[in-house]
Amino acid sequence: VRHIIVVLGDQLDPTAAAFNGCDPAHDVVWMAEVAEESTHVWSTKMRTALFLSAMRHFAQDRRTGNWTVDYRTLDAPDNRGTLAAELASAIERHQPRSVRMTAPGDWRVLQAIRTATSAAGVELVIEPDRHFYCDVRAFAAWARGQPELRLETFYRHMRRTHRVLMEGDVPAGERWNFDTENRAPFDAQGPGVVPAPPPVEPDPITRDVLALVRTRFADHPGDLDRFAWPVTRAQALHALERFVEERLPAFGRWQDALWPDAPWLWHSQIASALNLKLLNPREVVDAVEAAWRAGRAPLAAAEGYIRQILGWREYVRGVYWTQMPRYAESNALQATGDLPGFYWTGDAPMPCLADALQQTLKLGYAHHIQRLMVIGLYAQLLGVEPAQVHRWFLAVYVDAVEWVEMPNVLGMSQFADGGLMSSKPYIASGRYIERMSAGSYCRRCPFDPGQRTGPQACPYTRLYWDFMLRHDALLAANPRTAQQVRSLERLDATERALIREEAARWRRDSR
Ligand code: SF4
Repeated sequence: VRHIIVVLGDQLDPTAAAFNGCDPAHDVVWMAEVAEESTHVWSTKMRTALFLSAMRHFAQDRRTGNWTVDYRTLDAPDNRGTLAAELASAIERHQPRSVRMTAPGDWRVLQAIRTATSAAGVELVIEPDRHFYCDVRAFAAWARGQPELRLETFYRHMRRTHRVLMEGDVPAGERWNFDTENRAPFDAQGPGVVPAPPPVEPDPITRDVLALVRTRFADHPGDLDRFAWPVTRAQALHALERFVEERLPAFGRWQDALWPDAPWLWHSQIASALNLKLLNPREVVDAVEAAWRAGRAPLAAAEGYIRQILGWREYVRGVYWTQMPRYAESNALQATGDLPGFYWTGDAPMPCLADALQQTLKLGYAHHIQRLMVIGLYAQLLGVEPAQVHRWFLAVYVDAVEWVEMPNVLGMSQFADGGLMSSKPYIASGRYIERMSAGSYCRRCPFDPGQRTGPQACPYTRLYWDFMLRHDALLAANPRTAQQVRSLERLDATERALIREEAARWRRDSR
């Protein structure tokens, strides 16, 4: 064997640079299912099943293309359980001249592969990941010229560089940002009828995987009854097509709204397909821009969506790779609390949080605002250690891969990086959740979002005021939160003491 071509579970692209100059006559594709990838964080059954099913479909497709695929299944009797040990054994079997791969997404995995190849004395060739618009070196070069790493500056740079939503040198509609048209709350009617994402029926490969995961990871969180994620490129393309046709037009307007028992709303549900590399971000961005140019979607919706893919997704990857490994240790607010146990069961005492958690465990999915302003917000206000919040988010979502999950959680959601990414902590009281869901959760809740103390006080509202008291100096020094923290002046010493005391009691009792 000339080369072993390593393909990881989130590298399922047959056109990836790892295959450059390789051919089925001389080279072997190597893939491995290992328990470590489901246990280094306590992965939900749904997340594990998606990765394994998509990997097996990719391997089958490569075999059809005449490649030899050395595929190690999880239940192989001699499976060694880690990528490094399995790769070491593959090197021994094949005696390759070199091991080739596309740059892995996770820092941890890169270290493991390096360790295995260097211990075996085999050359490791790492090709750049062409999946992304902006490679890590280009991001680092951009970052060097910036006083602060702000998404807005990066996003405009990307729009200009890649000629997306541009009319000559001017942004389409002569504005970079359509937030004022986007992000409306629901009214009392709620979302109405929303076209559901296309169903994906589990085929025999997926059914085998579901059975394996049910047995092997029986004690892992979540369930598999509603597995319907795209596991092939054809399914991913179909999901993209349906999103652009049916949900994109309303995506922008309602992207920050939430409603009970409405998990999908107008979100795309293609992040997992993108992160497994079943879809390329260019085809996603092009399809969305084309829909706007053809008059099938408003500019505000197209811009709001493209900002997520061309802007945010590329930006968080750049932040991850330029800041790791120390980024993982970030804890600027010195939060040391434990994540409440109900994050793993969905059994939270607040209906807004319970709905988001239960949906997460059932589907492996929650939309952006549930993740940021319900689940993440509660952990931040409670003062949970950011590393625990990171591990939870990485474990539960089907689209969670560390390069994208970690900056979203540590940087945006928990403000653990002290403002490297976000210009302010994303904090709010229960009033925000009430407004964005037209009161639909609060009406069925024993708590009142307008009360910060007393037995009916909304836990979000109580902890929000406590957070401001605990971090008043930091918030006052930040021009984006100075106004918010000025509201503390209305509180006398007695009320401040009461907020602190009740928050401390809530923290103690809500483990
Ligand atoms: Fe959630 Fe607070 Fe509203 Fe209850 S009152 S549903 S805890 S925001």
